[in-house]
Amino acid sequence: MKLVSVALSLTLLTGAANSPGRDLPVVDSSVRPGDAFYQYVNGAWLKATDIPADRSSMSDGAMLSEQADQRTRGIIQETARDKNATADAKKIADFYNAFMDEASIEKLGLEPLAPQLREIAAIHDRTSLSRVLGGQLRADVDALNSTELYTDKLLGLWVAQDLDDPSRYATFLLQGGLGMPDRDYYLDDAPATAAIRARYTPHLAKVLALANIKDADAKAARIFALEKRMATVHSTRVDSSDVVKANNHWSARDFDAKAPGLDWQEYFAAAGLKGQADFIVWQPAAVTGLSALVASQPLETWKDYLTVRLIEHASPYLPKAFVDERFEFYSKALSGTPKPRDRWKRGIAVTNIALGDAVGKLYAARYFAPAEKARAEAMVHNLIAAFARRIEHLDWMQPETKAKAKAKLAVLKIGVGYPDHWIDYSALDIRPGDALGNALRAELFETHRNLAKLGKPVDRSEWVMTPQTVNAVNLPVMNAMNFPAAILAPPYFDPKRLAVMDYGATGATIGHEISHSFDDQGAQFDATGKLHNWWTPEDFAHFKESSQRLAQQYDQYRPFPDLALNGQQVLGENIADLAGLAVAYDAWQLSLKGKAAPVADGFTGDQQFFMSFAQSWRGKTREPALRQQVITDGHAPDEYRADTVRNLDAWYQAFDVKAADKLYLSPERRVRIW
Ligand SMILES: [Zn+2]
Repeated sequence: MKLVSVALSLTLLTGAANSPGRDLPVVDSSVRPGDAFYQYVNGAWLKATDIPADRSSMSDGAMLSEQADQRTRGIIQETARDKNATADAKKIADFYNAFMDEASIEKLGLEPLAPQLREIAAIHDRTSLSRVLGGQLRADVDALNSTELYTDKLLGLWVAQDLDDPSRYATFLLQGGLGMPDRDYYLDDAPATAAIRARYTPHLAKVLALANIKDADAKAARIFALEKRMATVHSTRVDSSDVVKANNHWSARDFDAKAPGLDWQEYFAAAGLKGQADFIVWQPAAVTGLSALVASQPLETWKDYLTVRLIEHASPYLPKAFVDERFEFYSKALSGTPKPRDRWKRGIAVTNIALGDAVGKLYAARYFAPAEKARAEAMVHNLIAAFARRIEHLDWMQPETKAKAKAKLAVLKIGVGYPDHWIDYSALDIRPGDALGNALRAELFETHRNLAKLGKPVDRSEWVMTPQTVNAVNLPVMNAMNFPAAILAPPYFDPKRLAVMDYGATGATIGHEISHSFDDQGAQFDATGKLHNWWTPEDFAHFKESSQRLAQQYDQYRPFPDLALNGQQVLGENIADLAGLAVAYDAWQLSLKGKAAPVADGFTGDQQFFMSFAQSWRGKTREPALRQQVITDGHAPDEYRADTVRNLDAWYQAFDVKAADKLYLSPERRVRIW
């Protein structure tokens, strides 16, 4: 479970500018902190900040992503000039430069897709359809770490530890196939969602027309109808995050009986999974439903659908007309972004996807000083020690559960800055002047790299994020955490200011990731990573009851009159925010070693701590993008994450919050879990 969402993954885009470095904010004294704490801390920033035209949102994380992109561009340009560049550095430069060579891309047109288009055109029965669908399976989802639940392929592949036997890797299959981000976009009747849906079929028709395919309107209508049927059998976002519902072990032979329709033997053979004996099927009803559609829906509709999905997937690497149409729907309609990102920024984003570790190795060497790595590691250890103390002092938990929780804490494998070893890209063929081919080979390389793990010992030192990613992640089955170099930087982590500010920002982030091991999902895995209930019944009942009260607190938040948060959908992240903030506060207090906290700009230490936390969540998001986040994401919008402070007694004392204040919760309504 990661720290923040990357809602733009569909559009393959990341990264805008602002001045880095910050200390205490200029507060908005027109509001009382107890009425609107987020506004009090961030009002001046919110007033002064515009979302850049090429972005759907703006935040400190976005500013840091922009900085990481600029640094990465510098690295690529240098390596492109370096005659002694390593093989990996040459691949990075070739990949990026091929993407930037718009003249060649324009000249090639759809030619690079010709083999795949021929393969689709040659589909003549269910067997050949199953073979094409199987050949498209990619390692493009991650149900528990990065929580990437979306794939445009019929199914998504994830290779990770077996939930019942974490000493081995298992093959997970997840639902997929939609062109829009979630089933709700097809089925929900809210006017804002219906308005986007109304633009989707014309968009599909435009893509087909650009590819000179006849009868584009009629075909688009049939493709939409097929996708709507897929959406109908898809599991909801909430069900997809319930790990107990997801732990379904199917043998390869089970598929024919449990999910008739697809020719599964052909599908698995084409996917490179021939001989794989067992699978974990994350959303079994969806796999059954999708497979049935292969039998029930006309072959011609499937062929049109596969054609449009193929072109859409390739569109970032196709001529400008395709890029523009992709932007019109996925960025403008779905996220509200008025202007496309500069091409070089898109180039960095796709290079990071294809060759992330190769870029990251160069990035970390240049931009993550050993002293900062040591300082961050020390902070992580302080946070873990503070968490252990909190467990010890929980008044509701019995000693046997406490012992198991502490055992789990003791095995956490912490990665700071960058991984101990890097992905070996020697088998990845990158060719100058072949932008699309490079991208497709990189996807296949990543799939093969994951399939190669099957049958090998589990590597707990593997990372799931690159060092240049502004984010952090907990790997609940691996009992590991990654804190990439790019997030351990000002304004979140800054050696030139009072430590309290770092504890309120990065300390809370570290605490958040540790706490994911103990959120509603993480708490179901034991110290070995096995999905196994290690709680006494009384303790688990108490944990469930407190969690439900937190879900209900978040159910009350309404970013729009017609759209409330789903407290259950964002529960794991909110438990992590709450426990992370509480443990960061404890760790900061411990770091004072009994001395009084320094006052700064007239603010007490406690005030600085909570202000730094709320400041770290300052952000602005365009309405369609915010709606998309509420519908599809496990993370609550920034403002409500800052409101976590309502549950901590120390916040009430720090800002003299009284019963009449809007954010006030009576002591018994404040949620305390960890
Ligand atoms: Zn998280």
